[in-house]
Amino acid sequence: MADKEDAEPVTGRPRSLRANSLFSEDELVEDYYDAPPANSGSSWSDNGPSPRLPAPAFSGSSPGMLGDGMEGTAATAPLSPTIKAGWLDKNPPQGSYIYQKRWVKLDADYLRYFDSEKDAYSKRFIPVSSISRVTSIGDQKFEVITNNRNFVFRAESDADRNEWIRTLQQIAEERKSKALERTLMSPTTSGAADPADKSGFLELRGFKHKLFVAVAGDKVFLYKNAEDYRLGIGITYIEMNVGNVKEVDRRGFDLTTPYRIFSFSADSDQEKEEWVEAMQQSIAEALSNSEVAERIWVVESNRFCADCGSPKPDWASINLCVVICKRCAGEHRGLGPGITKVRSLKMDRKVWTEELIELFHQIGNAVANQFWAANVPPSEAITPASSSQERRRFLIAKYREGKYRRYHPLFGNQEELDRALCAAVTTSDLAETQALLFCGAAVTCATGDPQCPTPLALAEKSGQRLQMEFLLHNKNSETPRLEVGGSEEKPYSVPLPSVTHNGFLYKTPSMAKPVGERKGQEEFSRRWCTLQDGVLSYYENDRNAVPNGEIKVEEIVCLVNNPPNAHGIESTFEIYIESERLYLFGLESPDSAREWLKSIAKSFVHPRAEELLALDFERIGRLHYKGGLNLERAKEGWFALAGSTLHVCFEDSERQEPLQLRKLQELSIQGDNEVLVLVERRRTLYIQGERKLDFLGWVHAIQKAAGSAGDTLSEQQLTESDVPLLVDRCIDYITQCGLTSEGIYRKSGQNSKTTSLLEMLRRDARSVRLKEGEHQVDDVANTLKRFFRDLGDGLFTGRWGQDWLRATALEDEEAKISEYRRLLGTLPTVNRATLKALINHLFRVQRFSGENQMNTHNLAIVFGPTLFQTDGKDYKAGRVVEDLISHYVKIFNVNDQEMKKQQDEIMAIMKMREAASSGTQQAGDFICTVYLEEKKTEAEQHVKIPATMTAEELTFEILDRRKIVMKEKDYWSCFEVNEREEAERPLHYSEKVLPILHCLGTESYLVVKKQMSMENMLIYLASRVGDCKHGMMKFREERNLLGLGLSTGFHDRYFILNHTCLRLYKEVRSHKPEKEWPVRNLKVYLGMKKKLRPPTCWGFTVFYENEKHEKQQWYLCCDTQADLREWFATFLHVQNGGALWPSETSKVRASRSQQDSRLGNISLIPLRGNESEMRNSVAAFATDPLTLLRNV
Ligand SMILES: [Zn+2]
Repeated sequence: MADKEDAEPVTGRPRSLRANSLFSEDELVEDYYDAPPANSGSSWSDNGPSPRLPAPAFSGSSPGMLGDGMEGTAATAPLSPTIKAGWLDKNPPQGSYIYQKRWVKLDADYLRYFDSEKDAYSKRFIPVSSISRVTSIGDQKFEVITNNRNFVFRAESDADRNEWIRTLQQIAEERKSKALERTLMSPTTSGAADPADKSGFLELRGFKHKLFVAVAGDKVFLYKNAEDYRLGIGITYIEMNVGNVKEVDRRGFDLTTPYRIFSFSADSDQEKEEWVEAMQQSIAEALSNSEVAERIWVVESNRFCADCGSPKPDWASINLCVVICKRCAGEHRGLGPGITKVRSLKMDRKVWTEELIELFHQIGNAVANQFWAANVPPSEAITPASSSQERRRFLIAKYREGKYRRYHPLFGNQEELDRALCAAVTTSDLAETQALLFCGAAVTCATGDPQCPTPLALAEKSGQRLQMEFLLHNKNSETPRLEVGGSEEKPYSVPLPSVTHNGFLYKTPSMAKPVGERKGQEEFSRRWCTLQDGVLSYYENDRNAVPNGEIKVEEIVCLVNNPPNAHGIESTFEIYIESERLYLFGLESPDSAREWLKSIAKSFVHPRAEELLALDFERIGRLHYKGGLNLERAKEGWFALAGSTLHVCFEDSERQEPLQLRKLQELSIQGDNEVLVLVERRRTLYIQGERKLDFLGWVHAIQKAAGSAGDTLSEQQLTESDVPLLVDRCIDYITQCGLTSEGIYRKSGQNSKTTSLLEMLRRDARSVRLKEGEHQVDDVANTLKRFFRDLGDGLFTGRWGQDWLRATALEDEEAKISEYRRLLGTLPTVNRATLKALINHLFRVQRFSGENQMNTHNLAIVFGPTLFQTDGKDYKAGRVVEDLISHYVKIFNVNDQEMKKQQDEIMAIMKMREAASSGTQQAGDFICTVYLEEKKTEAEQHVKIPATMTAEELTFEILDRRKIVMKEKDYWSCFEVNEREEAERPLHYSEKVLPILHCLGTESYLVVKKQMSMENMLIYLASRVGDCKHGMMKFREERNLLGLGLSTGFHDRYFILNHTCLRLYKEVRSHKPEKEWPVRNLKVYLGMKKKLRPPTCWGFTVFYENEKHEKQQWYLCCDTQADLREWFATFLHVQNGGALWPSETSKVRASRSQQDSRLGNISLIPLRGNESEMRNSVAAFATDPLTLLRNV
């Protein structure tokens, strides 16, 4: 049997009575779809669980059962009007002689026959395009001949037969010529219909054999087998505008129509999912409205895909203003919305405003391609038959790289481009605006007109609606740029994994503002939600076919997991999308909520950031950031916040990197809430607020996570060494200002001041700077004590506190110490680090007991009860503290080096205090100001200078703070700059800084910068033998107070420099030096005062001071830069025993060698400064500092 004809109809009321309104409250508040047509499958709920009707199939229905409201088959084919229909006898297949009466119908696309005129589904369809001939074969019969199968029909009369033949021939002829036209235009495969979206075998209840099913466009086609599918001759097709798909069991699903239920069964779970998805998509397409498409197609060039030439393209990129086919649209999506915003002409109706449609008439494919496709080599062009890979490659080249575009003459000249854009938008010349915009003009450039600050405002003022529309859609568009390699790795080029998830969710209407207050349960509506094929759709209920709205996962920028019970429903989460809206969803079950979160996250987070998915994140999404070497271009990173750690997948790194937010050195917002700056020990990260809504959410969340979370130690903001910042700040201050203060820690400060200071520090210790004069020593001391006394769980912890107290009973000193050490080992890291920092501090305080009257015992009396949070009635707590201070070195395993460092520091502090009391120095002066690169406030760094600090250590300290990693051949050095003399001296790396600071005059300061000539000096020194240099230089002596020495001007003199002294000869032949100075008494500075009018710009200034503090000063000028460099190198060489630069094994370097260079090696940027300042400061590095000396 060729035709299976044992089917049953579906019972049910006529469609017209079932039509349900799909309007819901969602529609009224949301901007997704307009009201869909009323003939939606949603009404099938009325049938209850009808899909399980017995043995339904598609044919042999009894007309009467369809109900009176039905007008036969007409309803199923609204788009293809019937050309001719009538009863014919069809010759039976396979040799039977009994003709069968069939209702035969012809439309523009198909010849079909049915059991009766009221049937919706045919027994056979023959595409008109496959009909090659129609011939008369006598007895009122005629034969329809297709490529390889013939169908014989018999009419009631010759006249009827002839009419059929004439009509069929005519239609087939028309179709052929059309097909020819199309082939000429774009060679495509001969296939009858569009390529199927999904095809394959499915079981259909009522059929013995599996059928070949194809979902294509808005129809589902059934074929007997794959061969028939290839030939295009099938059983029937189902118009999906009346379809509804529902999953039944693991492999089964029903396609329900008003006329019949098709019960399919797939081979697997996975297969079923795919079929259901394809059919749902088909329904969406069928329900779409072609009104917009028809209007866009009015323009001839818009009738073919702008990219591949396929006819009737029903998708568009609304920012590029091109009409494209479905397959190209899929690839467009892969480019990301920054490049192309894909919308359907038929489904996304809301977006199609009159302005946009008109814009597509004005620009559209013709004008767009004149620009975008000006230079497409034929070898790179695509056709309707191109594979998706070919399409992707072409579209990346065309739109992302702008490879084929027609360059605007102003290309490359940003200022001119911007100016031209401002002019163009006031005219109707959209092509010019297009060219300017996609050749780099900034859509938000400054117009210089305060009345109309942006091009958009200019366009508005000039009444250019279409220019405005075009600018609006390209507000966030990226300028195409050719990139070398790696373009495939760009975000979005990798297809996201297709994640499927569905279930009921509670949902509120979407919002354009952050969720301000708690939402009550009544504000949520229950919605059936599906996450499929990159779209999160929400439906009125699980039986509806048309969603109330949907969210495309590629537009999701952030997903937030709210804390439990943040709203009236236990678990809630928020989805933020590109276009600045947020959706709030909720569930009663935290487990299901977690599943949803994971599924949604997986669907939109880029595969390279999939590591983040494993985290228990409270917020995940993409953001733009700057960091690393390239600060010109913001990159896109994926961020996840979990606890107090921000995990980041940077654009160019393999793995996610955690940033400990509580350990940040700086967290600030720059500009008008535009950039969030995070400074960690080794790096600076600028997170940019591309969009307001989700960015503000991130800022608040990061600020919160970076603050103290509670009152226990580990919940505080921490230093790099795990000591609470609050404790560190207080200890630091007391060390600087309070070590010699009488009764320190015993005297109580003012209660109110303590309270407010503690509160301030608790809120954000990072931003608090304790200053002498502003804060009283006793207030700070009291704050520290109060902090420990109120500390949740105490410093020694509730669990172990008693053990510490019990240890005091141990009589054997050694046993007691080892017990303390054991207990120390049991403390959590932060507690242990804090205890060590505190005891170290107290150890120092008692060293000053001569002045402050606080010996170990006195300190223990104060701190015992404070740390153990006891009433202090017995001395056990005090005993612990006393023991810890007394045996500080042993218990905390302090080595000699550490000890010496502390001693030195104490010495330095003593010295400072002495100086302060004698009035020669300001208190706290050993905090010195050092500049990075140049003297300006934003480059200021305040550094504590211990007595032992060398110039190298200081240099590293500064670089470290600014996250600069010293690379090979970067000769970062500390310079002493003398402004009065207009000269500077690089400190030798081993020079101690403190003494230099002491004699630094008011015109001098320290700056850390690169020593540009170091490389050449090292090469010079390595290239010669011996350590002498001699030659001519121009010499000038500063007139001293006694009026002695040379009066004015520079004079040629001959010099010899060896390892002991510098000698000056009147001329080369002189035997006896005129002057002679020991090298160790000289200080050589590069540069000299311009007012001395030096004869060349290669000069230096030399200071001489002998043991009797007699001072001299003179000036030397060389003829060339090389000469100057050689003299200077020789000076440094003889003064420092040959070591100009530390060897690689230098201790300081070694100890810092683990620095992470991935991000940090660039932040030569003032932390507070605009972008042009950043650029300038980076540019400054490229210049030779000696240029400063040349401007004579
Ligand atoms: Zn196309």
